[in-house]
Amino acid sequence: MTPSKINAESISTKVKIYTRSEHNISRSQISENALKVLYKLQKEGYDAYLVGGCVRDLLLGREPKDFDVVTNAEPEEIKNVFRNCRLIGRRFRLAHVHFGREVIEVATFRGAGEAKNDEQVLNKEGRLLRDNVYGTIEEDVWRRDFTVNALYYNIKDFSVVDYVGGMADHKAATLRLIGDPETRFREDPVRMLRAVRFAVKLGFNLHPDCATAMHQVAELLSCIPSARLYDETLKLFMFGYALQTFEMLRHYGLFQILFPSTENSLSLEDNGFPRLLLAKALANSDNRIADGKTVTAYFLFSAFLWEPVQILAKGKINKGTIEFIAYQEAANEIISKQIKSTALPRHITLAMREVWSLQPKFNARFGSKPSRLITHPRFRAGYDFLLLRAETGGADLEVAEWWGKYQIADDNEQRKMTQPPSRKGTNSKPARKRNYRGKAKVNPAGTEA
Ligand code: ATP
Ligand code: MG
Repeated sequence: MTPSKINAESISTKVKIYTRSEHNISRSQISENALKVLYKLQKEGYDAYLVGGCVRDLLLGREPKDFDVVTNAEPEEIKNVFRNCRLIGRRFRLAHVHFGREVIEVATFRGAGEAKNDEQVLNKEGRLLRDNVYGTIEEDVWRRDFTVNALYYNIKDFSVVDYVGGMADHKAATLRLIGDPETRFREDPVRMLRAVRFAVKLGFNLHPDCATAMHQVAELLSCIPSARLYDETLKLFMFGYALQTFEMLRHYGLFQILFPSTENSLSLEDNGFPRLLLAKALANSDNRIADGKTVTAYFLFSAFLWEPVQILAKGKINKGTIEFIAYQEAANEIISKQIKSTALPRHITLAMREVWSLQPKFNARFGSKPSRLITHPRFRAGYDFLLLRAETGGADLEVAEWWGKYQIADDNEQRKMTQPPSRKGTNSKPARKRNYRGKAKVNPAGTEA
């Protein structure tokens, strides 16, 4: 089957043009550099439109993440128009026009003809491997994923051009795939992740046909190269809607493909308690973004894989492996398994291991160890992780609180805090220690956990 077969004649008759007075997109909301690119292409005699997420977001009155331009100029022609331009990509050949840090992506209209040469290639599952057949705007529209992502803002007359009922879906807050949903998901299973991402981010509802198809072909996501899934995973979880995204991915059976070990761990309770750490980590990360703070990928991945590492390590300890070795082996095995689903860059896995290996070190609160630990480059992340564990019943709350105080204490106070407790037999009060689930219990020896 050719990708998204279409009948060009029926399409052109269906086109709806929303004139400037019929929509709310104003040039003042559009990046100056994107406008420069549009005007320059127009001046050189080409058609030029904004398309995709930027049009969708502008219609919602939101600031777009980036501005994508589409034109009838071919990549080499685009390169001739702009000095600051580089051609990239194999699967989709694109031009990047650079303005300092801002990059405007300029694509040529995709064609939708028969796969007559190696410029357009499908694999046996129907996945599109290469797609460099150029065409017209009427053809390009059918190559896009959702109707709300297929609206074109025409620089010629500032109108919005709609071939697929995208404007009506936009108003109804519906995310609808263009064409037959199952075929479109087969062509590119990543569209399922995009469906979840947009539904959550925009607060749109998935069209029922789209939801049904997703249940049917979720498995196909496992065919996608792990490097691409890593990129998509970052887009899913790093932008302020991580918790909802996680829930929706699980609902459609997509999460288990991205994080198989994590999915398994979530079905195993911890001494009769559900595993709460991940959900809490995602909620915290969303709150941080809402407060304008940053989140790091390694922290999130540490949270995703923490429970699987715990479960595996505990199994090894039960079989007689010493604790330290058991945790190291478990971390290695879980990371090796994970990178088959989402490739993880080395700096990320290194940082994850550091966050994990700091955890037992927080138990040493006396003598010179705390003052050394606090200078560790990952101290802050390690401490945040400890807090997360403590808040979800996996670590001693009192220890976490102690480190909270220690960090902000002055030198004098820090020295006092790290003095070893009086030896047994003196009349000091026994320290109160919280057990695993946070219930206070007396620790008669007053020793460290
Ligand atoms: P974002 O806000 O995340 O940038 P976006 O919709 O702009 O959302 P991009 O990845 O920037 O997403 O893609 C730009 C446009 O290209 C999309 O709106 C869509 O029309 C088209 N597109 C991108 N990826 C796909 C895909 N996998 N299949 C079909 N069309 C796609
Ligand atoms: Mg975009």
